Amino acid sequence: MNNKMFYLILLSIVLGIVGGICFPEHMLSMRWIGTLFINLLKLIALPLIFSALVGAITSIGNTKRLGSIGIYTIFYVLTSVSFAVIIGLVLLNVFKPGIGLPPQLILANAAAMHHAKAIDFSSFLLTLFPPNIVAAAAKFEIMPIVFFSIVFSIACISVGESAKPVMNLFNGLRDVFVKMIIWLMYLTPIGLFSLLGSAIAEAALQKRLMESVRGMLLFIFVFMMGLFLQCLWQFALVKFMKRKNAAEFVRQASNPMLTAFVTSSSIATLPIALIAAKQLKLTDEVARFVLPFSTTINLAGTAMYEAVSTLFFCQILGMHLSIMSQLGIFITSIVAGMGATGIPEGGLVTMIMVLRSANVPTSALVLLLPFDRILDRFRTMVNVWGSLVCTATVDYLSTAKKDRGAKYNPSYLAENEDIGIVATSSNGSIR
Ligand code: ASP
Repeated sequence: MNNKMFYLILLSIVLGIVGGICFPEHMLSMRWIGTLFINLLKLIALPLIFSALVGAITSIGNTKRLGSIGIYTIFYVLTSVSFAVIIGLVLLNVFKPGIGLPPQLILANAAAMHHAKAIDFSSFLLTLFPPNIVAAAAKFEIMPIVFFSIVFSIACISVGESAKPVMNLFNGLRDVFVKMIIWLMYLTPIGLFSLLGSAIAEAALQKRLMESVRGMLLFIFVFMMGLFLQCLWQFALVKFMKRKNAAEFVRQASNPMLTAFVTSSSIATLPIALIAAKQLKLTDEVARFVLPFSTTINLAGTAMYEAVSTLFFCQILGMHLSIMSQLGIFITSIVAGMGATGIPEGGLVTMIMVLRSANVPTSALVLLLPFDRILDRFRTMVNVWGSLVCTATVDYLSTAKKDRGAKYNPSYLAENEDIGIVATSSNGSIR
């Protein structure tokens, strides 16, 4: 099915381009199909983010020996995802790939253009805590939902035993929404054909097609450079921790990273990552807790993708973004990255949240659709690499120096042969 899908997407790209250039009027009249596809993405985004965040946060509370391991993990995740987003935003500000591209590429499919409004701190806080959470959800205001999910999860943890059914419910819901996204992705070729075709038709009618292709290629180049830099600083960290064993770390990490490239899913790669952690002699209990947890929330490649794409769209639309507005993109990208749940193209769905917060029309996603499948493979590799470095860092921090010496003794592996591997179920959820 995967291969079939790949060819269908290629076919829809070719048909969209040919249709957009040769029959622009016809393509424009089929724009509603693409709008339908975007509506379906939006339909799932909110419940997915809510259930994924509640599931991830409450899972910390369910782990008895959380202590310092949990704190180190959260600290690492926040640092690494922040670095990723900052690297991406800086590169976009330097290279400015979106400047000069025709806004029609985005506006062609937009029902209405939202203009950025200046937000001061107090009104920002007021939008985070609205009086009616259902009304906020109905208006698709994502940040209040995120804050509500965080407070809700903390309350579940502190209630304890009697809140267990609620936590289980949200974990189950998360799996259901992931399944719905997988189904929705089967419609990608149709949505892509319509959205790409009508955007190209619009650009072709204005004779600005080549300019647009150049801008997209520059954007992809800048994003790949950002991913590379993100891997690089984490490699420097590995080098610091492992000294002479850094090359061995990369060698062992290459297997899960290749699996990530092939599956486009960090969750599906989890069993292979656990095997790599075992080969790397990372402490069993650290790996068993940190890897699944960080696989769910440490999606630095995804967060960077959401931030750079949003800024890229803002550049195309000629929206001037103050530092405060870029800070908004920074925060929402971090949260949206966490909500992407480690499944193929999950990041594309949660990006809607970042777009909304920056007042960019969601139709902008059309520009990414032709490239998202391949970009997803690269950002998933970076996500998986990040989770392994996270596990190694937490292990480094939580292992006393003297034990560390003992651990690299060859007899260590033999003594720890009984390390169990977390398996993934057929739908990608962790058992
Ligand atoms: N496919 C990514 C992952 O599994 C998520 C995304 O960026 O879409 O890590």
